[in-house]
Amino acid sequence: MREVRRTVPAPEDLGTAVIGVPTGSDLELDLRLEAVMEGILVSGSVRGRAVGECVRCLEEVVEDVDAPVQELYVYPERARAAVEDGDDEEEIRELDGDLVDVEPVVRDAVVPALPFRPVCSPDCPGLCPQCGARLADPENADHSHEVLDPRWAELDRIKDVLDDRKES
Ligand SMILES: [Zn+2]
Ligand SMILES: [Zn+2]
Repeated sequence: MREVRRTVPAPEDLGTAVIGVPTGSDLELDLRLEAVMEGILVSGSVRGRAVGECVRCLEEVVEDVDAPVQELYVYPERARAAVEDGDDEEEIRELDGDLVDVEPVVRDAVVPALPFRPVCSPDCPGLCPQCGARLADPENADHSHEVLDPRWAELDRIKDVLDDRKES
């Protein structure tokens, strides 16, 4: 068994449309490589820091990711046999000589571990639908707009006109 502990730069596009690990930022791999009958079993974890946007208020969200990794890399002849046995070729990771290409496995581990809809806080109230103010900001604590039913607004105008008349 071999242990691999290494910090690598994050590959491009490691994430979703709303959150991801920035390209080139540190990814810590902590992996065990074990020779088994069919090939090499890679297990362990990958850690990194994802940066995204709150889906409610667009504020930056930083999320630590710690994703478990487990993947079997099979010897090419085993892979061929497995495909003949009807296994899905796409799902088989083949060893390339003695090399293990970890990147796709890291991707498969990290992306599903990211929050599907990141939020800056679980009770983020989002943005004001009328003016776009960020409602979680302290200065917007009692933010509101006077909402008038259009029919009442109409009456208000009549009242204004009457008031004007009264004054004159
Ligand atoms: Zn938010
Ligand atoms: Zn507003």
